[in-house]
Amino acid sequence: MPDTSSAKGEWTLPMTASCRCGALTLTMTAPPILTMACHCRGCQKMTGGAFSLSAAFPTGAVTIAGAEPQQGGLGTEGQDHMHCPRCLSWVFTRLPEAYGILNVRAPMIDVPEGIAPFAETQDAEKLPFVHVDVAMSFERFPDMDELTAASARFAEEAARV
Ligand SMILES: [Zn+2]
Ligand SMILES: [Zn+2]
Repeated sequence: MPDTSSAKGEWTLPMTASCRCGALTLTMTAPPILTMACHCRGCQKMTGGAFSLSAAFPTGAVTIAGAEPQQGGLGTEGQDHMHCPRCLSWVFTRLPEAYGILNVRAPMIDVPEGIAPFAETQDAEKLPFVHVDVAMSFERFPDMDELTAASARFAEEAARV
């Protein structure tokens, strides 16, 4: 668990998130362990934008309510991209259980100021006109050790909201 009692203040918990139409909601009772921008081609296509934004929360800290999430973004091994069945917003992604985290699409969080990306992933596929102001960059997806190191740094340095 990240130490949230530093001079940078405390996270305001719980945090809430919702899809575009509001039918699917999430409540997070622990702070994110890392916030990220992903530049992979898959995220570009899924978002219709230059990159995706995510906030990783401990799986057990996230409660899903409302509409039954629908899987989309098929064809991605090991990642279940879950959408609102009504408005089809991409709301969160389930990773293999070993990671112990659930990736909430950061723009769904109701205080989006708080979800500035701390790290970027898949830099190798970043579009040439894009620059994101982040503390850490990974050429590809970080492995478990890199993720642990990034999350320790995030706990130390990231701004809390
Ligand atoms: Zn919706
Ligand atoms: Zn991606």
